Parts: sequence; C-alpha cells; structure tokens
Amino acid sequence: MIRLLRSCPSRCLARPPGIGPGAAHPPRPDHAAGARVGETCAGAGRSWSSGDAAVLRLRAATGVAEQERAAGGAEAGSEEDVQLLATSESPELLRIRHSCAHVMAMAVKQLYPTAQCTIGPAIDYGFYYDFDMDGAVVTEQDLKAIRKEMRKIVGKDLPFICEEVSEAEAIERIEEVGEPYKKEILTDIVGKDANAPITIYHIGQKGQEDHWWDLCSGPHVESTGKIKQDAFDLESLAGAYWRGDERNKQLLRIYGTAWENKKQLKAYERLKEEAAKRDHRKLGKQLDLFSMQELAGPGLVFWHPKGAAVRDVIERYWKDIHLQRGYDLVCSPHVAKADLWCTSGHMDFYNENMYDQMDVEDVSYQLKPMNCPFHILMYTDAQRSYRDLPIRWAELGTVYRYERSGTMHGLFRVRGFTQDDAHIFCLPDQISVEIVGVLDLIEEMMTAFGFTKYEINLSTRPEKSVGSDAIWNTAEAALVEALESKGWAYVVDNGGGAFYGPKIDVKIQDAIGRKWQCSTVQLDFNLPERFDMSYVDADNAKRRPIMIHRAIFGSIERFFGILVENYAGAFPLWLAPVQCRLLPVTDAFTDFAKAVASQMRDVGIRAEVCDGERIGKLIRNAERAKTPVMCVVGEKEVESGTLSVRTRKDGDLGAMDVPQMITRMKTAVELRRDF
Ligand SMILES: [Zn+2]
Ligand SMILES: [Zn+2]
Repeated sequence: MIRLLRSCPSRCLARPPGIGPGAAHPPRPDHAAGARVGETCAGAGRSWSSGDAAVLRLRAATGVAEQERAAGGAEAGSEEDVQLLATSESPELLRIRHSCAHVMAMAVKQLYPTAQCTIGPAIDYGFYYDFDMDGAVVTEQDLKAIRKEMRKIVGKDLPFICEEVSEAEAIERIEEVGEPYKKEILTDIVGKDANAPITIYHIGQKGQEDHWWDLCSGPHVESTGKIKQDAFDLESLAGAYWRGDERNKQLLRIYGTAWENKKQLKAYERLKEEAAKRDHRKLGKQLDLFSMQELAGPGLVFWHPKGAAVRDVIERYWKDIHLQRGYDLVCSPHVAKADLWCTSGHMDFYNENMYDQMDVEDVSYQLKPMNCPFHILMYTDAQRSYRDLPIRWAELGTVYRYERSGTMHGLFRVRGFTQDDAHIFCLPDQISVEIVGVLDLIEEMMTAFGFTKYEINLSTRPEKSVGSDAIWNTAEAALVEALESKGWAYVVDNGGGAFYGPKIDVKIQDAIGRKWQCSTVQLDFNLPERFDMSYVDADNAKRRPIMIHRAIFGSIERFFGILVENYAGAFPLWLAPVQCRLLPVTDAFTDFAKAVASQMRDVGIRAEVCDGERIGKLIRNAERAKTPVMCVVGEKEVESGTLSVRTRKDGDLGAMDVPQMITRMKTAVELRRDF
C-alpha cells in the first residue's frame, strides 16, 4: 500500500496545545469508535454492530422484532423483554465478557501449550482473544473443544486474583512462561507511564495445576463460576495482524460472546440470525443494488441502476426538504490546494485519514476528506452583515477518507462516501432556534424513512478547548434549550464534546431494535477563527459568526445500508427501485404491458415489464425482487383495459381500471404510503 503523508509544508498553523490528532472535526457519523473496552486492546468492533453501541430489546417469547413492532414497539413489551446491552452500557457485562476472554485464553493454552497469548478485550457484544498459534491449525470444528475446556474452567469456579508487580518482576514472570507478545505490551505500558501500576490477574492459585495468568488491568468477575456455562459461546475465527499492522505476523483471533444468562444469549443469537438475513451486503447483491469492484479498489461503491434509483429518490427528497426548510444548496470541488487544508488544520489534525497529495503544476492538491472548508471559502467570498444571517448551506458532498484495508465493511465503512452535509452560520442568539430547526428536520426526515425512536446525546465542553467561557456557556445553554423545547429525553456526556464545540448526536432504532448513530449537530468555534470569518454587526463592529456542522443521514452510503437492513430489502413503495412490474401472461400481451409501463413512467412511476416466462415464475421473480406492486396482463385485461393487481403486502387485489390504477399508485407514492 502506498500512502505517503506529508505534513503541512509551511506548518502554517500549529495545533492548540495538548490537543491530539483526530480532534479537529466532528467525528464522522459513520465512524463512531467501536467499543474498545478492557485491556491493552487494539482491535475494532465487527459484524453488524461494528461501531454502534446498541440497546437491543427483544421479546424473548417470540424473538422476532417484527411482532414487537406490531405490538406497539419495544416499550410496549412486558417482563418478557430481554435487554441486550452493549459492553459499554453494562459494567457487569464488561466484567463477564472480559473475564470470559481470559478463560478462553486459558483453555487455548491448555489445549495448545505452545500457543502465545497477545490481547483479549471485550467488544460490543462479546470478546475476542488473539493468539500466535505457533503453526497449529485451528478450525471452526476445534472451537467445540475449546468451548468444552472453557466450561471445565468455569465449572471449577477458580478465583480471579489480582497481583501488583514491579516491572522487573513482570519481566521475570513473562520470561518464565515465554510470552514475547506480553513483553511488548509491558514495554508499551511502561513507555506510556513509567509509574503506571503493573497488574497481573491470575485465574486460580499460583503453583496449582489449574492456574493461568495474564497482564491486565481488569475488571473481572470474582471467580470463573460467575460466568454461566450456558450464557457464553464461541462464534468465529478470523485472522488478525499483531497490532493491526499487516507487516506483522498474522495471529488467530477467536470471537466469542457472553451474557448474564441463557435467556440473553438465546435472544442475542436470534437477533444475530435476523441481522444476518438482513445483511445489506448479501441483499445488495441479491437485489442488484450495488457492488465493490476489485479492480477499482476496496471501499469504493458502485451503485447499480436499482441502487442508484433508490439513492436518487433519497437525494431528491433530501434536496426538496432542505429547500423547503430554508437551506440553499451549494456544490464544491473534490480537491483543493494543500494550503487550504493547512489553514483548516486538517493537515495537522486529520492527516491519518487523508490520502497523499497530488502535484499539479508544482502545487500540492489534496482530495477532500470534508466539505466544511469549502463552505467557509464561499462565506468569506463576500462581506457578510448580521442581516444576512443565518446562512444555511447544504451539499451532498462526496469525500474520501483513508481506512485500513481490513476495516472496510460493506457500505458501513468505506473510503469514498457522500455526506448529507450542511453548515449553518448564525449569530450567537440564533443558535437555539437553528438547533431546533435541525432537530425538527431530523425528526421529519427520519420519520419519513420509518425511524421514530431516537436516543439523544449531548456532549459538553472537554477540559481542553478553544473558545471563551462566554461562548461555550451560551452555546451549551442554547443546545439544552433546543432539546428542552423539542421535549426530547437526552443523556449528557459531560466533557465529551470536541475541543472546538459542544454537539448533539442522534441515534435511530431500526426494525429489529438495533441503534445506529446517524445525525450529528456540532458547533464549531475553531474554523471561524482559523479562516477569520466575520460579519458586520448592527454597531458596525466585525464579529465572528457561529458555525454549525450538521448531517442528518451521516453518509448516503451508510444510511442506504441501514435502510436495506431495516426493510430487509423490501423498500416501501415510494423508495422501491422498481415500484411496479407488469407481467404479461404470454408474449401476445407484451405490447399492452409496455404501453401501460410507459404511461406509468410518464407520471414518474418506476415501472418495468418482465416477460418470457410462465406467469407463475414471473410472479415469484417479482416477489423475490421485493417489488411492491405487480400487474398481471392477460387476454381479459387487454380486452377490458384493466390490470390484475397484486401487492407484496396484500396479495391479489383483483382487476383495476388502468387510469384509476395509475392515479392510485401516484397518490400512494406522493404520500409515501402503501398502494
Ligand atoms: Zn483482564
Ligand atoms: Zn462540517
């Protein structure tokens, strides 16, 4: 992989003291950090939950969230509800999952004495441990034996014992057991903080047969018996590089999951099954929506006609509603001189996520990782007055960000994606009203896509920050005021904001209870300063405008992936790539079907004719393609100028007059209702 990064050639603007890399911008909504809890862990989350903390509620009796929705949503559930909490949401589950990783490592060491242990953190809904297997091959089959060994360890109820040791003692112990990776980890710990306490956690008593230890800072359950034999499982195997670096040795990663009780484990397994059925990568192929192309490179999305049709509907809807809500649409380039990214600070703060620059006539250009600086340039292109504010500029802006090749995941984590971005420039006393406007827009748009349950987070001023006390106080008060006036419950993450401003995050809940972080509203006191943005106030003084970054979907790609999984590929009528399939019983009726399809397309209905097969097969194909409306055309229909209508939801609806059918369909699409 060629990826050379040059730092800012002129080092034009230094980073504010004490503020680390990556802090320069609102975290991309689609890249919320995976739950990395526990010990010296370098791994990221995986599978559908990757990067998304989620509270999952499933009715244990049925396990199918569809039924839960029909019953009026998760909240309507009774004591039967099983709450499936992420590790970050439950200290108890953190202890269980983290301890389970130790038990697994001990079991592996007992079965494969020459295996070497590296790291084993808890992750969103489970844990993993990476081993250097010293050449031993482990298959899915072997997981059974490891599981069995773990059950034995759990059955013996061995205590977890913490022991603090000196560095020299730790080295000696590591050498005694011959675990070179542990030595590297120890060097890291000491390198970061020479005075950091070094702790060892034992399972069982030293000197006894059932004993194993690991360098770790905890936390753990008191004894292995606290892990329920029937509430954990080993899930899968994967290759992983030591420290996530492909130049290092490849290790074996074993994933597992652990819960407080069997009921939770079963509910989790059902949810996983349901999620697998809805996997957007699988459905994307099956429904011919999108692809990634090896020749083009990973993380770059090809939208096939059907996927592009849905995207087009989403984008048109997005543009229309923004125009209705007082935004203006803007467009900006995909590259700009490196100087711009120096001024914005991205070259310093964000370079890990940026591609190498390209030279054009001896000037360095940078592919854009964000749209913000472009909107700022348009703002500073003219002298602005307080009377011009607020300015709301929206853009479906395609950006490119570097992601490690191993971390890409379908549409959820990609290298090129389109943000549904907007920036609001306003006066300090307009913040609250503007934020309410954004929250209203989030609610309206998410409701249109069927998401009506939200989880709101307000992140406030961190220890190190830019901007005056006055502006932070004004801004935080305005955000609270906006949330209160909206009447939304929210959780405050004290000190969790970016150094340049407070923010509100909104998670939506999908059809099977998973939560996805999509919308973000982020205030910024930093970029207006860096670009010397101003407006002329009523007293003729030049003042800095307030800048608000906001996205509703986060990225079109990721949101589309969420939609596919939410609807299990069966898009509602208004979004469906093909809204109506016309199915001639024999070729003799194809011309009639084509004429009707043409009339439908004239009024904006996405219609297509499928023929050349027996009618039963055509219907089955349409159902498999999850087409919402099918019209069968035979002799009777052609003679009477009607269509035999079937819908995905209600089956056979009988004969309908052609113009009537088209009008009804058009209305249903416009109102975003079923046919
Ligand atoms: Zn531990
Ligand atoms: Zn921005």
